[in-house]
Amino acid sequence: MSEPPVYDVAIIGAGVVGAAIAQALSHKCVDVVVLDAGPDVGTGTSKANTAIRHTGFDAKPGSLEAALLRRSYPLVTEFAARTGVPIENTGALLVAWDSHQAERLPELETNAHANGCDDVTRVSAQQVYELEPHLGPGATGGLLVPGEGIICPFTMPLALAYDAQLNGTDFRFNHQVTAIAPDDRGSHIIETTRNSVTARWVINAAGLYSDVIDRMLGHDSFTVTPRRGQLIVFDKVARPLLSRVLLPVPSAKTKGVLIAPTVFGNVLLGPTAEDLTDKTATETTAEGLAGLLDKGRPILPDLAAEQVTATYAGLRAATGESDYQIHSWPDEHYICVGGIRSTGLSSSLGIADYVLDLLGDAGQQLRDKEETQTPHMPMIGEAFTRPYQDEAAIAADATCGHIVCHCERVTEAEIIAATRAPIPARDLNGLRRRTRAMMGRCQGFYCTANVSRLFADATGQTLTHLFAEDEQQ
Ligand SMILES: Cc1cc2nc3c(=O)[nH]c(=O)nc-3n(C[C@H](O)[C@H](O)[C@H](O)COP(=O)(O)OP(=O)(O)OC[C@H]3O[C@@H](n4cnc5c(N)ncnc54)[C@H](O)[C@@H]3O)c2cc1C
Repeated sequence: MSEPPVYDVAIIGAGVVGAAIAQALSHKCVDVVVLDAGPDVGTGTSKANTAIRHTGFDAKPGSLEAALLRRSYPLVTEFAARTGVPIENTGALLVAWDSHQAERLPELETNAHANGCDDVTRVSAQQVYELEPHLGPGATGGLLVPGEGIICPFTMPLALAYDAQLNGTDFRFNHQVTAIAPDDRGSHIIETTRNSVTARWVINAAGLYSDVIDRMLGHDSFTVTPRRGQLIVFDKVARPLLSRVLLPVPSAKTKGVLIAPTVFGNVLLGPTAEDLTDKTATETTAEGLAGLLDKGRPILPDLAAEQVTATYAGLRAATGESDYQIHSWPDEHYICVGGIRSTGLSSSLGIADYVLDLLGDAGQQLRDKEETQTPHMPMIGEAFTRPYQDEAAIAADATCGHIVCHCERVTEAEIIAATRAPIPARDLNGLRRRTRAMMGRCQGFYCTANVSRLFADATGQTLTHLFAEDEQQ
């Protein structure tokens, strides 16, 4: 029997942060394995956020978060253009609603400039209404943040993971890490619920559980307190009510409740900020949703009358610290990438770049590969040409024009393609994130039977098995 491989690097966590680190490393001559407890890419916090592409204008100057958001911005622009991640450069308008909030605008503008966001400018109350005529009465001024935008929360982690996989990264799903011990050659033996893996370096990108992994490695640097954010998704008919992301004046604890368009053409209201102890408490509550509606009504009064498509909640990996918890222990061949609280979707590529610096500083050889491959993501953003609109593709293959989810206009060809992706969809949730099928106005009421049958046929699963898996998640 041949010896199991010793990887150069094991990354724990296939959320957007772990996937970004894997993607960056996959372009270097190193052997990398990614271990995730879940069944797919991005099944943790990365699947449930507000999907704003942050500039870092409101981050604390001098913080690692501010620096990595800035570092990430051009990298995300390049990566999204290369792979087909939907981004809309909508800009954001931060609105002050009373004199006290208006007094904070100069300080927020100075903060933005200190973070390199030089295009952030103050605007008068009159300009606020010229920019966003549907806002409720009472705005006292604002801050225009041209660099903020919206990004697809599902395609970004998938594109990063597909890129990593195409360039040689070994992904192991349903591999929950349970213990880590050193071997006699200075490597880590990582025990999982499936089997053990040996690697010279461990990179801890385990999100809500990064403190647990940190302790497995003998450290106790921080504790993650899940901070729940509930959100309401409004129907696409609400989309004309706003042109850009509408931000509140932030507090020390949270960015506050915002209203934002999504790349799918909906409107989001949220998130709440509730400190909990249960790292699995991703349910929404009547109280939380009612509170959001109360906060949203004065900002955009017409929104409250629109139909709600869905509600969801995500858990931020908050710690007692205000900054990211990224630490390197070169002698132990360990890097912790924890506490990536509210901005990880935007900063993921900046974090990955920084982690590569830390590895290089610690003596790890990181030679560029001579050739790399690029994934081409199916376009699920509404501002771009969707597959059902692609006349040439439909002329070549009729399934490209056969719509099976009418709310989200997803075609048969897209369902099949999701089962043949570099990391294929293995269950209905994976299919939803890759295609948007069953995520529209009817929430799958009309299309689930047809979509599931197509998916089951393509993956060789029975419908009973498929629905049982869906129930469990
Ligand atoms: C409500 C809300 C709104 C947000 N809005 C935005 C926004 O608008 N813009 C933005 O940029 N960011 C936003 N964020 C933040 C962003 O979503 C997170 O920073 C980011 O998703 C964190 O990614 P991650 O990879 O660190 O964690 P995760 O996505 O949670 O990934 C960690 C992975 O580790 C795995 N794991 C955990 N323990 C183990 C183990 N023992 N063994 C193996 N695997 C393990 C998990 O299965 C999981 O897949 C928001 C977050 C929330 C909750």
